[in-house]
Amino acid sequence: MRILLLSDIHGNLEALQTILQATPFEAAWVLGDLVGYGADPNRVVEIIRDLQPQVLIRGNHDRVCSGLEPPEGFSRLAREAALWTLDALTPENRNYLRTLPKGPVVQGNYLICHGSPADEDEYLWNAAQVEALLGFQSPPVCFFGHTHVPIVFRCVDRQRIDSQFIQNPSEMILEPATRFFINPGAVGQPRNRDPRASAALLDSATGTINFLKVPYDIEAAALKIERAGLPPPLAERLFGGW
Ligand code: ZN
Repeated sequence: MRILLLSDIHGNLEALQTILQATPFEAAWVLGDLVGYGADPNRVVEIIRDLQPQVLIRGNHDRVCSGLEPPEGFSRLAREAALWTLDALTPENRNYLRTLPKGPVVQGNYLICHGSPADEDEYLWNAAQVEALLGFQSPPVCFFGHTHVPIVFRCVDRQRIDSQFIQNPSEMILEPATRFFINPGAVGQPRNRDPRASAALLDSATGTINFLKVPYDIEAAALKIERAGLPPPLAERLFGGW
């Protein structure tokens, strides 16, 4: 089965639609942060709901933008966007976000979380953090999001964890008996200085992952952000991928 891995969509309709058309797939796993920052939270929620993802968990922005929590610890830009989104969401879509399950979720040989398996709000940046997670009993392959940076941590053994940023479309094979922590990158707000929408396609039959980097209509997404009265840097950052 071909499974599309989507994370950090952040209300970016143009990026989401482009990724969904980029490759055929039979199932979707969504790693959280459907909304926040972008100007189309309702359309994004409705598209994801209609996709009927096999796995779907919440992100920190989903909690705050649906009013489940105050925007404590959010930057000024994130807070302003969250309050705008809370107001823009229909009651039905707000309620949908409020009821999203908390990660991690086990799906066969895979673990799916937003931040890290230990804490849905932890930013998993480096191998030292991954090493600290190896003590947890877990399926061998963990998919995570939250940092908006596409990266693969491959645990050769406890002393050696290779990390590889995913710069371009590429394919990798999940070797058996090896632990991986994999971030497919952000669909709607990449932060690795590459503005293309990022996602991944897992072929569960062959254990192959294809990383997708897809140009989309950034001008349209940015213009909507400006017209919505959201902070202008939220539009500007899309062009640079920061
Ligand atoms: Zn995010």
